Amino acid sequence: MKPIRILLISTLLVGSALAAVAAPASKSVYSASARRTDDDFKSLKAGDRIALVCKECESVTVQTVESAEAAMKLCKEGETVVCGSCNKVAKVVRRGPRSKTSTSTATEVRYVNEKGEDCMFIVKLES
Ligand SMILES: [Zn+2]
Repeated sequence: MKPIRILLISTLLVGSALAAVAAPASKSVYSASARRTDDDFKSLKAGDRIALVCKECESVTVQTVESAEAAMKLCKEGETVVCGSCNKVAKVVRRGPRSKTSTSTATEVRYVNEKGEDCMFIVKLES
């Protein structure tokens, strides 16, 4: 049942993340789905805004994608992502398809802490 629990936490965090980011009178519409696959990251381009949601300190760091290469680094195994709020470093790991829980056959990208637990995720902000 673990995947379901993670999904619930993600949904909750995205909810609070949206509230936090939406506060400064922004008219942006958010895609609430976390970036999880190569295709998700490939679709990011320079100038796109992404939100790094940190579960460790429950904060959201909004970043602008500098380039397609920079976006691809976010899903490259072994790369690290730093929370702009608590400076926690998350490691990028890639996991193979989970055929039992998902119809997707794509590799999933996750951000884990030193214990190997999901600690961050990235959401694209639609402008
Ligand atoms: Zn943090």
